[in-house]
Amino acid sequence: MIFTQLFSCDSAPGFVERNNLPELRLKRSFRMKVYISADIEGVTGVTHWDEADRLNPDYQEFREQMTAEVAAACEGALLAGGTEIWVKDAHGSARNLIAARLPKQTHLIRGWSGHPFSMVQELDGSFNAMLMIGYHSRAGSGANPLAHTISGNIAGLKINGSDASELLIHAYTAAYVGVPLVFLSGDEGICEDATLLIPQIATVAVKRGVGDASINIHPHLAVDQITKRVQTALLDDVSTCRLPLPEQFAVQITYKDHAMARRASFFPGAVIEHPHTIGFESDDYFEVLRLFAFVLRF
Ligand SMILES: [Zn+2]
Repeated sequence: MIFTQLFSCDSAPGFVERNNLPELRLKRSFRMKVYISADIEGVTGVTHWDEADRLNPDYQEFREQMTAEVAAACEGALLAGGTEIWVKDAHGSARNLIAARLPKQTHLIRGWSGHPFSMVQELDGSFNAMLMIGYHSRAGSGANPLAHTISGNIAGLKINGSDASELLIHAYTAAYVGVPLVFLSGDEGICEDATLLIPQIATVAVKRGVGDASINIHPHLAVDQITKRVQTALLDDVSTCRLPLPEQFAVQITYKDHAMARRASFFPGAVIEHPHTIGFESDDYFEVLRLFAFVLRF
């Protein structure tokens, strides 16, 4: 765990009586900033798109569970000594989480700014650690009935030849700004991907996908496990969860509809490799994120 000292005793507020300085030395202020990116398709119970659609009556129950799992992660972070938590609501409208159920130390990011950091908007090097809640298996996987990568229009997305999930995309963003990714909860498939990517990451698998079905742990058990595992992950040496960022990126995006691939191929630097597939290369990950911001969301 990395603590940053906010001020030394020498720079303590001037109104402090000189006689109180020894006591002040014992009360040094520390800061641990934690970032949480939250999705819903990897929350326990969620099995059908109706349950992830805010306009559907089925949604309320799962919005509440998404909120409970994020609140559990916040609690774990606070138990570990966290002092400031930023949460990105990162599903659909990005207006899912019930703010009053999160702790007062939380800054909640709602809606979409349009910034290419997308599901990790406002993440920067001032954060000590990042957590992912409710994450789900990627497009092309059978490990979640709702498996996809960013858009339902994508049949598959590869970065440097590896199948890419929303986990991989945003883990590289965390690496880009130098923040370790220490915890992920979601379906079993994405937990396995996370462990392959970052062997020291802590995970909680809240469900397993089987075709269009899911086998889920109890909502309260998910909450308990997330709190405990987040706490221990943040008390551990988070630097072991730093992901090295590749120096070069070769991206391939395969669309379900060939006309979408054709349109995306006109993004500067993109080429059409196959009627359904575009390719793009860069040595700057931000340029990859810029591509995604323009060709994955139409
Ligand atoms: Zn989602």
